[in-house]
Amino acid sequence: MEPGDTASQPQGGAHDLSCRACVVGGGPAGMMLGLLLARAGIDVIVLEKHADFLRDFRGDTIHPSTLEALHDLGFLDEFLRLPHQEAQELAAVIGDTRVPIADFSHLPTHAKFIAFMPQWDFLNFLARKAAAYPTFRLLMSTEADGLITEGGRIAGVRAKTKDGGLMIRADLTFGADGRHSLVRAEAGFAPIEIGAPMDVLWFKLSRRADDPNETFGRLESGQMLVLINRGEHWQCGYVIAKGSADALKAEGIEALRARIKALAPFMSDRLAELASVDDARLLSVAIDRLPLWHRPGLLCIGDCAHAMSPVGGVGINLAIQDAIAAANLLSVPLLSQPRPPDDCLARVQARREFPAKATQKMQAFIQSRVISQVLSGKKLTPPLFLRLFIIWPLLRRLPARLIGLGVRPERVRSPQA
Ligand SMILES: Cc1cc2nc3c(=O)[nH]c(=O)nc-3n(C[C@H](O)[C@H](O)[C@H](O)COP(=O)(O)OP(=O)(O)OC[C@H]3O[C@@H](n4cnc5c(N)ncnc54)[C@H](O)[C@@H]3O)c2cc1C
Repeated sequence: MEPGDTASQPQGGAHDLSCRACVVGGGPAGMMLGLLLARAGIDVIVLEKHADFLRDFRGDTIHPSTLEALHDLGFLDEFLRLPHQEAQELAAVIGDTRVPIADFSHLPTHAKFIAFMPQWDFLNFLARKAAAYPTFRLLMSTEADGLITEGGRIAGVRAKTKDGGLMIRADLTFGADGRHSLVRAEAGFAPIEIGAPMDVLWFKLSRRADDPNETFGRLESGQMLVLINRGEHWQCGYVIAKGSADALKAEGIEALRARIKALAPFMSDRLAELASVDDARLLSVAIDRLPLWHRPGLLCIGDCAHAMSPVGGVGINLAIQDAIAAANLLSVPLLSQPRPPDDCLARVQARREFPAKATQKMQAFIQSRVISQVLSGKKLTPPLFLRLFIIWPLLRRLPARLIGLGVRPERVRSPQA
């Protein structure tokens, strides 16, 4: 034992486990990584603190690059048989002007659209596929509550289950436990905070046959509403100034309904479905990034390494891309060496840090050039760079690439056992 070692702390129970790779968090990043490592024949345990994947809305967008990864895995056709909606184009209505922003129909991918599907259906699908590999173990209702440290190296996690404590020893541990990550805090990592001027209130309203058929954002002076067409309902995101949710909720439900009616008059016949202000769930928007994603024995990916703004709806996509890159770069070392050398972990950060940084920069640009302007209540006209999308359709392919594929799209190259 060395100073700081935690392995012999009396946290373990009768069911202590060991594995090659332990992934903390069964979100998009953790489930995709677990699946890919198991597919390569690596003994992997994924821990998820919840009992199932059924949670509040937290993003339903499956982007073309994620669909392409499913194609690489041979799962795309089966996946697209699950109920979903498809959007080939994204648009914004700014004042009276409709601006088509992204046209996915020319992407060099098999699926040239964003698929909207409840995140739990997506995660259940990944869990089902991963379960087909004998080296995959998914422990639900298992919450990591500490890291095991041995000789200055992370050697696994401590966790709590309904039956007591558990020690899971691993040659490599992954933090994929999201934006409020315990792993990154326990590892001593502090994120760089990048501000966001807004928060979002998310709620659902039913959709009628004669409603608009697209997914779009409605921007009026002082207000903004994102409407995601989910077939039978609209997933609505009402964008508000950062920290203003309590004041807005204190105005009461009639005031909130009036704001939504002003932005989407076609919804006035169903605003009673919003029974109380508490039906609108607050997403406190954060953008942050870890300067260092790894230390010996540990790598952070997804929101744990970089929480994204909802601009462009790219958080799930980036999390999946991190998982693919990690599996591509770490599967062979995990298969061939007792402990994957730490420079392999640095290579994952080196590959994925630029896409995360560049995407956050673009999100910060949209936040300051468009969203802050809207929320400030100034008279609204589309900025020049957006007006160009109206007159030059070819330009719409650029945001389609950035949103649909991301800055550095990853293809599945990890081995299959
Ligand atoms: C309201 C809302 C709306 C969003 N909308 C979109 C959108 O439209 N499009 C988009 O791309 N992104 C969206 N996002 C962001 C998106 O959800 C995240 O970027 C994405 O889910 C990140 O994936 P992840 O796997 O890194 O982390 P997460 O999805 O956060 O997954 C982390 C997982 O770890 C589990 N966990 C946490 N702590 C522990 C622990 N100690 N032990 C075990 N398990 C633990 C959690 O339960 C969770 O399942 C939205 C987020 C929110 C909150």
